[in-house]
Amino acid sequence: MNLSVLGSTGSIGTQTLDVARKLNIKITALCAHKSVDKIEAQIREFHPQIAVLSDEKAGADLKIRVRDTATKVLFGEQAILEAAAHKNADTVLNALVGMMGLVPTVTAIEAGKTIALANKETLVAGGDYVMALAKQKQIPILPVDSEHSAIFQCLQGMAPNRALKKLILTASGGPFFGCSRQQLQKVKAADALQHPNWDMGAKITIDSSTMMNKGFEVIEAVHLFGVPVSDVEVVVHRESVIHSMVEYDDHSVIAQLGVPDMRIPIQYALTYPERYASDVPELSLPQIGKLTFFEPDDETFPCLSICRKAIAKGGLTPAAVNAANEEAVRLFLQDKISFLDIEKIAQDALENQKQIDYHCIEDVLVCDRAARQRVLSRYS
Ligand code: MG
Repeated sequence: MNLSVLGSTGSIGTQTLDVARKLNIKITALCAHKSVDKIEAQIREFHPQIAVLSDEKAGADLKIRVRDTATKVLFGEQAILEAAAHKNADTVLNALVGMMGLVPTVTAIEAGKTIALANKETLVAGGDYVMALAKQKQIPILPVDSEHSAIFQCLQGMAPNRALKKLILTASGGPFFGCSRQQLQKVKAADALQHPNWDMGAKITIDSSTMMNKGFEVIEAVHLFGVPVSDVEVVVHRESVIHSMVEYDDHSVIAQLGVPDMRIPIQYALTYPERYASDVPELSLPQIGKLTFFEPDDETFPCLSICRKAIAKGGLTPAAVNAANEEAVRLFLQDKISFLDIEKIAQDALENQKQIDYHCIEDVLVCDRAARQRVLSRYS
């Protein structure tokens, strides 16, 4: 396999390279935002044909630093698309953070690459378009997110008549599980950045603490597995041992379990349909002792139901909610808005997205910009 990794210096990106190292996967392209030190080390270890930094200043610096290597350095946002479409790669793992991941996924599909997808916004914002394009081009989209990988794994034994009753996504509940609205009022960014089970980037950690992340995952599941939103259930499971489940018409429930370590879903996406040994520790159920489950608390954490309503409304609505949320999280991380403002901003985007239908990716980008502008005009 020849792999391009978009977002190579983030949490998923570095774990992808751990897997690539273990399995001797050849790296064609690396792409990151501006982590010069990290990507330089990756270039020296993996010898990609090209490396891209979206930040131009950092990219210019990198170019000088690695001029003794055979890696070609490009920079600027457009250059990400060259990494996404590089002729020598057969698979693109997209672990970019946020909306900037959408167009590279589309570019990679158009270039005929198999997609290992960790970028949520690709499907949240552009799901209808991206899935139709992938189908038309016969490109597999393999989920990297732990929940969708779990469902994908549970579906491998699916009966020929499908007979799928529902998907059950598990949610850790985040750091504020059990908190009251009153307690949430006082939450600061530093509190929200503590996730109980998973080690992730700042954006997704905040999204986990509001349950927006789980809402996005419901939307992704609708697109990836072609089910109505009413067939996607969420259950809070604090231990993050069951990564998600599938229920069939005979009420048999299939679950995928493992220690919470992203290298399992990353590796499965890269080796599917085969499996190989990994460095991830074995799961010891006696050591865990018991597994617990709760209904999600939609009154305290409304973002999950905001996402359900957004995908039910359909079309551009999830893109608007996603854009508003992305700006809200940025403002919250800068201490400019409160924790509970995030849901308010998302709800506002849900209610105010008038245009629903769209026909091209440019429509999604226009909607995205308008939704961001609406947030910025009010809060900064
Ligand atoms: Mg997840």
